[in-house]
Amino acid sequence: MDLNAYYKLISDEGRAQRYLSKKCRKNGHRFCPRCKQRKLYKLADERHRCSRCKYTFHDYSGRWINYGRLSAVQWLSVIKLFELEVSVRKMSLQLGLSYRAVYGVVSAIRMAILSHAEDAQSLLGGEIDLDEAYFGGRRKGNRGRGAAGKVPVFGILERDGLVHVSVVPDVSAATLLKLTVKKVRRGSVVYTDKFGSYNSLMFCGYRHLKVDHQKYFSSGKVYINGLEGFWSWAKERLIKHHGVSKNYFPLYLKELEFRYNNRNDDIFDQVANYLCDLVPKRD
Ligand SMILES: [Zn+2]
Repeated sequence: MDLNAYYKLISDEGRAQRYLSKKCRKNGHRFCPRCKQRKLYKLADERHRCSRCKYTFHDYSGRWINYGRLSAVQWLSVIKLFELEVSVRKMSLQLGLSYRAVYGVVSAIRMAILSHAEDAQSLLGGEIDLDEAYFGGRRKGNRGRGAAGKVPVFGILERDGLVHVSVVPDVSAATLLKLTVKKVRRGSVVYTDKFGSYNSLMFCGYRHLKVDHQKYFSSGKVYINGLEGFWSWAKERLIKHHGVSKNYFPLYLKELEFRYNNRNDDIFDQVANYLCDLVPKRD
């Protein structure tokens, strides 16, 4: 969203509320966040009661955006600053809110992005690069595979398309092939380096081509610089967060995947949509 449209949107709390409330409906209809019933009773204080399960709710009930009790204008400001990759500390100064409060709502944005990524069923296909990278760890120490204290991440990149990254417990053949089979369409051409964990790809229904790092430039189409580009782009961004704890790392990683996959798009509206999604029920 460009700044003119954004200024107009936040010029008035009512306008900002309508923008967000609209996103909480389905095909223009309000529905019960518990049982999805569309027949509702309007109550006096902007709330509604479900005719089926009798749940009383307001527009943000059960949604990510219900977190933090911000006004609609404040939410839109957080989304704009998030779009611009402003740090939580600077956001809290800009918004006049505590660091803790801003950290909480930015985490809600990241959770909404993660939740959306987990729901995405679409398969990647065509020409695919697979590669692993290691993130974090205090010391440089051992580089490459098995580096102590570092978090292994597996990446799947569709050439000229989307990237899918996930934190993995290890880089064994079983782990990497399972994720590949789940995410990559059979029959795709898959490029990897010579790491042994990829040896069985051809048995999983893929055309497997190996890249020799030594002959990087001489092997024509066989290259994985697409993912190497993503890894360096991601690592550069993570430096700004001054070391992310292992527990929160998957959240940051999915944020980076989202930003990368939408690098040519306007993410403001998309983040607002995700925030207005229902929080999935966990068992
Ligand atoms: Zn209901």
